[in-house]
Formats: sequence, C-alpha cells, structure tokens
Amino acid sequence: MLLKELEKFPQEIKSFMRIASTIAGKLGVRIYLVGGIVRDLIIKRKSFDYDIVVEGDGIEFTQLIADFLRVNFIKHQTFGTATVYYKNYKIDVATCRKEYYSCWGALPKVTPSSLRDDLYRRDFTINAMAIGLNKDDYGELLDFYNGYNDLKNGLIRVLHDRSFLDDPTRIFRAIRFEKRFGFRIEGRTLKLIKQALEEEAIKFVDEQRIRDEIVLILKEDYPPKYIRRIDELIGFSFIDKDLKLDKQDYMLFRRIHRAIKFFYQRFLKYHKLQEWLIYLLGITIKLSKEKVERFCSNFDFRRGEKKILTEIFIEKRTIHSLKRKVKIRKIISVLKPMSFEAIVFFYAYFNNKRLNKNILYFLNNLEKIKINVRGSDLEAINLKPAKIYGKILEELVYVKLEKNLLTKEEELEEAKKIFKRLIRAHSN
Ligand code: ATP
Repeated sequence: MLLKELEKFPQEIKSFMRIASTIAGKLGVRIYLVGGIVRDLIIKRKSFDYDIVVEGDGIEFTQLIADFLRVNFIKHQTFGTATVYYKNYKIDVATCRKEYYSCWGALPKVTPSSLRDDLYRRDFTINAMAIGLNKDDYGELLDFYNGYNDLKNGLIRVLHDRSFLDDPTRIFRAIRFEKRFGFRIEGRTLKLIKQALEEEAIKFVDEQRIRDEIVLILKEDYPPKYIRRIDELIGFSFIDKDLKLDKQDYMLFRRIHRAIKFFYQRFLKYHKLQEWLIYLLGITIKLSKEKVERFCSNFDFRRGEKKILTEIFIEKRTIHSLKRKVKIRKIISVLKPMSFEAIVFFYAYFNNKRLNKNILYFLNNLEKIKINVRGSDLEAINLKPAKIYGKILEELVYVKLEKNLLTKEEELEEAKKIFKRLIRAHSN
C-alpha cells in the first residue's frame, strides 16, 4: 500500500527524505521510516519524532547525510544510533537491530539485523510498521505484523507472548496508548499483562525506566484516566507496598486538572509548570516524607523534582496559616519560597476558600512582587554593610505592595528608608 499521507510532511522533511533516499541508494543500504511516526501518519495525528532505521551501517549513513547537508549530528556509538538536526527538526537514525534478553527486564543485547527483525522487537503491532524510503518502495507501507488493521480496529496487541516478560515497562506503554487513542488492549495481550504481573515482572525492571514511563503518562492530556487504569491493572505498590488510591484521590486528580487549566488561563501564561509533578504529588502526598525520599532516590528523580516532591511535607504545615485572613506580608512570606507546582497543588489539595483567596492574591500580584532594585543598586549609593542587602530587598517586596510603588526610583527611596530603620533597630 502506498501512503499518500507522506506528502503531508513538512517540506523540509520531505526534501530530507528524498536526499536520504538517494544517499542510501548510493551507499547500497536500505532505509525506512518506523515506529510512532508511521502510526501517527496513518491516523493523521501530528507527530514530531522522525525515526529512520537503516539496513546496514546507520552511523556511516548519517555521517554522509550530515556531510552532504552540512548539519550537525550526534553519534550514540553503543546503540549504533545517531541524531541529525536539520532545520528545527530532529531525526533519529538507527541501525536495524535484533534484540535478545539475557534476563527479565534487563536492557536487551543488540545485534545488527533486517527490518523485519527490527520491527519484531517493538512493543505493539501499531508501533511496528514501516514506510519504505528506497527508490523501489518509496512511500510503501510495510506491515509484517498486521499493525494497520489493529490501528483501524483500535487494538493494542503485542507481537509475541514473551513481550511483557522481556520488557515489563511495556505494560505502562500499553496503558498509555490505550488511553491516549481511546483504544482497547486486545484480549490475549491483556492476559499476558496479568500473567507478567502475577510473576512480579515489574520488580525486575530498573526503577528509572519505570519512572520514565510514569512521567510520560503524567504528561498526557488528561492523566486521571491513566492513573485509574494503572490502579486497575497494576496498582501502585511499585511506588510503595502500602500505597492505595481511593475515591478522594480521584477527586483530587480532577481538581488538580481543573486548577492547572485555571492557572494557565489566569496567571501563568508565561510560566511553564511541570504539570506531571503536580499529579505525582497527588499520589505521593499519601506517603510519609521518608518514603517519598526513598522513592525519589530509588527512581532517581532529578534534584529539583526531588525537592518539590519532598519539601511539600514541610510546606503543607506552613501553608495552613493561610487558611485565615492574614496580612499581605504573611501571604508573601509563605508562598514566595514555594514552587508554582506546590502552590497549584495546594490550591487543589486543600480546596479551602480562604487559602485559595490568598493564593489568588499572591498570583495576581506576582508582577508587583518582582522588585527592580538589585544589590548592585544599593552598592552604587554606598549603603553599608552589604550583608544586610538581602534583608533590605526582602522588606522592599512587602513595602512595594503595601505602598503600591511603581518606579525603580520609588523603590530605591524606600530601600534607603528600610536601610535606616534596620540600622536604627540594630543599634538600639
Ligand atoms: P509517542 O507518540 O509517545 O512519542 P512513540 O511510539 O513514538 O510514542 P517512543 O517512546 O518515542 O514512542 O518510541 C519510538 C518507537 O520505539 C515506538 O513506536 C516503538 O516502536 C519502539 N519502542 C519504544 N519503547 C519500546 C519498548 N519498551 N519496547 C519495544 N519497543 C519500543
């Protein structure tokens, strides 16, 4: 079958593929477009990841293309893969591979092979199709495993019975594709998932790989439905053996979803939230701080992510004070040190009228809280000692709001007054 949709690719990609095709022909290797991009092309979904596989030496082929186009590329020698950067697009090139697994859940050993083998090692039939990019099969769909029909029938199906034992992270991927596309996990595949779970296959996977899949899931459009499906099929004992979700938690996830949308509309147009972390907070808040610390180090979260996930326990105590009518300074001193993720989380978590009013006040005044005066400005007017600059600037934030200061000059005048007050207080 010839795919007309190929014509819908951006012009730059089309010309890249034509050039790639010619170079492959000259080099005597065959190349194919594979994986998610083929699936998305068929269902007319926008996709940004272009994956090409080469029957032959993928790195040599990429080197030639990069030389010809005079663009950069990065080699990943161990996997025989390379990434080309071409006019704002990223194109991954891999050598066709065959994998075998030395033990459960371990990363596979890889040997060079043909397209058919390369597709056989993939997760689901819908992701195991290719499009020929060679002179004699340009634009032709190559579908050895019936992916096209599964895609049309909305089915998630593995290619062979050992699939989930070879790589249990595919269980999470099955959920992701099922929910994203509104598909169904096909009967036998579902049985294989259950068998793999009974055999505790997930325990044999590197936690970092599970983390990556969880993050991808929480980055999907409406994570609550994915969380529910994980709960149904797998449960959350892979995070902590006692972790169980209930009705209240699902209400919280829905509130988180609404809060994120609301905040983006109202305040955070210019501020990107790590939304997935807010949902994860909704799950991990049920554990103790110690357990979350352990979870973060086992799953190897980044330092900033770990900070948000663990500091929430202390912040949860301090933010209580904002459930009453309080002074502006209090609102700022409590909320300013917090991440936006934590603030949005608490907005949904406590769902408390007064607290949310205070949070809204804080966010409405975000711009005003930013002061223009810097330490260097204080130095320029010779205020000493420099060690109190931090205190002056902190105080200036409150005064700026209370007195509605507008210009940097006004701020500087106030800074001088604060300085005098601090010195006086210190000498008394
Ligand atoms: P998305 O649309 O979310 O980017 P994708 O299908 O492009 O989904 P990637 O994670 O980018 O997914 O992987 C690209 C391709 O690599 C997949 O389509 C699939 O063929 C293959 N793949 C990825 N992860 C696995 C896995 N764990 N086991 C087998 N094949 C995999």
